[in-house]
Amino acid sequence: MENNAFADIVGKEYKCLDKGFVRLVDVMGDDNSIVQAARVSYGKGTKSLREDRSLIRYLMRHSHTSPFEMVELKFHVKLPIFVARQWIRHRTANVNEYSGRYSEMRDEFYLPEPMQIRSQSSDNKQGRSQDELPKNVVDEILQKMEDLQKNSYSDYLFFLENDLARELARINLPLSTYTEWYWKIDLHNLFHFLKLRLDEHAQYEIRVYAETIADILKQILPLSYEAFEDYELDTANFNKNELKVLREIIDVEKFNSIDLSEYGFSKSEGKEFKEKFEKFIIRNKE
Ligand SMILES: Cc1cc2nc3c(=O)[nH]c(=O)nc-3n(C[C@H](O)[C@H](O)[C@H](O)COP(=O)(O)OP(=O)(O)OC[C@H]3O[C@@H](n4cnc5c(N)ncnc54)[C@H](O)[C@@H]3O)c2cc1C
Repeated sequence: MENNAFADIVGKEYKCLDKGFVRLVDVMGDDNSIVQAARVSYGKGTKSLREDRSLIRYLMRHSHTSPFEMVELKFHVKLPIFVARQWIRHRTANVNEYSGRYSEMRDEFYLPEPMQIRSQSSDNKQGRSQDELPKNVVDEILQKMEDLQKNSYSDYLFFLENDLARELARINLPLSTYTEWYWKIDLHNLFHFLKLRLDEHAQYEIRVYAETIADILKQILPLSYEAFEDYELDTANFNKNELKVLREIIDVEKFNSIDLSEYGFSKSEGKEFKEKFEKFIIRNKE
């Protein structure tokens, strides 16, 4: 891979949470590999017509996803077990995890920052609120978490000293215990992972890892990441009723007078936007 950013990034540990990290181990392909694969399907004739950037953007906004599968990324990740449980649900990756049956578990546990010790959210049953708990309560909670981690590890060592098999000795260790794995995934499925795990509804702790991976991608796959941001990440879907409301309030005349190039639209992007506007806003306007 000829991307200079790659040489700076590969092998580097990007710290996540208190003791975790993400490390890019290897990459197969780059933005060019996507373009190259896509051109197979469009034939030689189109090669000079599209710039690489506009081809990548075209593929992304038309959900022509298979060229993005040509790039493969392998990461080494150190993460608490409760984060790993969420992460492993993304089935389109290849994983090899540290074995607590084969090796001794290390004395490493995630302890949240005091500012992350928040109350239960009342509107999101799966999340924490922005409300802080009283300082004395935060201190007590953190102390109890730390005590439990220390006690469970000390019991773990006792079990090992008494010759209990490692596969059983580990079973009372908490979900905050750090584990490690190698994780390999193609870029299309990595974008899917990021879309779900960068979202504000994802748990803060897995979001930290997703943000780190996103920062890496921005540097090594700048065109693809930009297209992902523009057409997947920073977008919204409107359902049928929501569109009805938008039709009521959108000023069609004003839309028609706007110069889309001032908003960063290329010619073809502007044309597609106008067609979408015509289809979903004007044609159905009562
Ligand atoms: C905010 C949030 C909250 C969540 N809460 C819960 C929860 O409470 N409980 C819970 O169990 N999970 C929960 N999840 C996990 C979630 O349901 C998904 O399992 C996880 O996000 C992985 O998504 P995925 O299946 O699309 O991804 P991947 O497994 O990477 O799959 C990618 C795509 O491939 C296809 N695919 C892959 N495997 C199969 C298959 N076997 N059959 C059919 N299609 C397949 C699907 O189209 C899928 O979208 C939550 C996820 C998020 C982001």
